[in-house]
Amino acid sequence: YNIQYGIDAEYVVWVTVGPQPTDTTTLLPFLQDFEAHFPQKYLNIIADAGYESEENYLYLEQRGQIAYIKPNNYEMSKQRKYQKDIGRRENMEYNADKDFYVCANGKKISVSGERKQKTKTGYETWKTQYSCENCSNCTLKAQCIHGNRSKTPLETRTKHFEISKIFQQKRAEDLERITSKKGIELRVNRSIQSEGTFANVKADLQFRRFLGRGKVNALVESMLMAMAHNIGKMHHKIQSSRSGQYLFPVNNAA
Ligand code: SF4
Repeated sequence: YNIQYGIDAEYVVWVTVGPQPTDTTTLLPFLQDFEAHFPQKYLNIIADAGYESEENYLYLEQRGQIAYIKPNNYEMSKQRKYQKDIGRRENMEYNADKDFYVCANGKKISVSGERKQKTKTGYETWKTQYSCENCSNCTLKAQCIHGNRSKTPLETRTKHFEISKIFQQKRAEDLERITSKKGIELRVNRSIQSEGTFANVKADLQFRRFLGRGKVNALVESMLMAMAHNIGKMHHKIQSSRSGQYLFPVNNAA
């Protein structure tokens, strides 16, 4: 089961148990379940990289909520290897007016098509496909064209990639938010509060394994652990005179 805890001011405020193998598809059911039981909805939704998707960005935007989701490539994009990778679209020069990229060999990579893609949740997105005008005899090919599983010999291959423009736009807007002062404060607090809650339940309360079987039992046990966490947290916050504190103050950039 995929257990999701929603945290506010260090307390667990909602729990879901679902069959999803990854976190990406848990965000919407989690929020829908929460909002079906509570009259209010949270303005800021802070989540780690595993929750990033175009569907999630658009869902939050359409409901007037603000996403602070760490992009999937955020940590990787800071690495030297990533920044030096000439095969990455992100490292190519982009002409926004005419919608083409220029590769490390000075060739144009222009739009060659478009295709509709359906995700596992049924969400439909459009991918814009790009192809290089001429990759023949390029001496940079081995560094530029990745994907060793292709049966086509490298010499005859041409550089292609595809992107969802909506996703790229939403990711760029999100990146601006999460790297702002407020975004850093929320992100640091997500890390402290969410990871801290799971650490407390798993390590301090030593909850490593469900006692019962089935989704309902998993949900009940997860809720009991959340309640135990909340009681301990309330005691701790009272003792440390932090009862009204929502966020830990953040001094340094993350
Ligand atoms: S392989 Fe093609 S896209 Fe890559 S650098 Fe060479 S010409 Fe440019």
